Amino acid sequence: MTTASTSQNDILFERAQLTTPGGVNSPVRAFKSVGGTPRFITRAEGPYFWDADGKRYIDYIGSWGPAIVGHAHPQVVKAVQDAAARGLSFGAPTLGEIEMAEEICKLVPSIEQVRLVSSGTEATMSALRLARGATGRDKIVKFEGCYHGHADSLLVKAGSGLLTFGNPTSAGVPEDFVKHTLVLDYNNVAQLEDAFESMGDTIACVIVEPVAGNMNLIRATPEFLGAMRRLCTEHGAVLIFDEVMCGFRVGLGGAQELYGITPDLTALGKVIGGGMPVAAFGGSAQLMHNMAPIGAVYQAGTLSGNPVAVAAGMATLALVQQPGFYEKLSAQAGKLVAGLTAAAKEAGVTFCADSVGGMFGMYFSQNVPASYGQMMAGDKTRFNAFFHGMLDEGVYFAPAAFEAGFVSAMHDDAVIEETLAAARKVFARLA
Ligand code: PLP
Repeated sequence: MTTASTSQNDILFERAQLTTPGGVNSPVRAFKSVGGTPRFITRAEGPYFWDADGKRYIDYIGSWGPAIVGHAHPQVVKAVQDAAARGLSFGAPTLGEIEMAEEICKLVPSIEQVRLVSSGTEATMSALRLARGATGRDKIVKFEGCYHGHADSLLVKAGSGLLTFGNPTSAGVPEDFVKHTLVLDYNNVAQLEDAFESMGDTIACVIVEPVAGNMNLIRATPEFLGAMRRLCTEHGAVLIFDEVMCGFRVGLGGAQELYGITPDLTALGKVIGGGMPVAAFGGSAQLMHNMAPIGAVYQAGTLSGNPVAVAAGMATLALVQQPGFYEKLSAQAGKLVAGLTAAAKEAGVTFCADSVGGMFGMYFSQNVPASYGQMMAGDKTRFNAFFHGMLDEGVYFAPAAFEAGFVSAMHDDAVIEETLAAARKVFARLA
């Protein structure tokens, strides 16, 4: 395989595929769903990044969520540089970890104690183990379309009928590992009630993205989350909010503050690391006391609470607490989706969009979807054409129709207007 292309992206992609499966270190970075060559990024600043050909893009992925204050924010970079100069990793406790735990507990009241880890996958996987350890039960409930990282028991697709246990979505996951995972429809209260009615006393936990961002953006209804809270309490199951994506993204207190619903455990990631590997899970002190070294649930990590990563996270958490931060972020996301919707309408393209805080969804369908099934019914071919049209114009959206988008505090009015000007051209071509 040799390319005749002179594009550095093509040349690097070809080279990457020789030593890395598919040329990428996380599947979502490949352009498998939309076709074409992934862009190899050389640097980023504010709302922009530049590829290996020197082309500038307005970035609406933000590293899939972490870059909420914009890329290479001077305060975050300085915190990282200062921390790095003091040493990269000690394998012994530090003051920074205490400060980060205190900050998270202050900002997310349902968390009294927290354990720092290095990825969202570790956070949700450990939260599940804690829920199972604390309840002595095996079964877990998740919802179709919600992604909670790549731990075995969470890589499950729905079974063929309602209330069936799932099948592995990945080769290498034994059926035995997922036989305790029940997959239900998002936003379906009746189905959730049926599940608890028939097997409530064996369910260890329910895990949910309270604002879903891995099947495009889909909001949970207040009734759905309310029913979940009530049923978990009635049946002694642990309610886990996976706020790895929506935490510190839809608002300072996350989705739980937005909906006024208190989970038993919360998983966090992305924003709390500000672009470095920090994630966390936490809840009541009573529940968290089940964790080793004081409890029987084991979990550990060589780089957990890494001092450089924690410094990036703390600098980011300081910035998002500036007055008006989330109001501005929400307003900018709102302007983007309103502008895109108007541009599509003007061109006669079936399209709608939604945003919650700094997250947004774009749908090539008549109505904003409320479930995985509704989301999958959207026009994927049209999305792909839109994606590539926008990419050519220098606007980088997520390379798949089922991903949410993210704005940062650096996406000011001029950046949004530049995006909308490009969208008007692209929608006109799609019509
Ligand atoms: N949970 C949610 C809601 C996520 O969006 C993600 C990643 O996108 C994860 C968990 C897994 O996090 P990580 O990729 O850091 O392992």
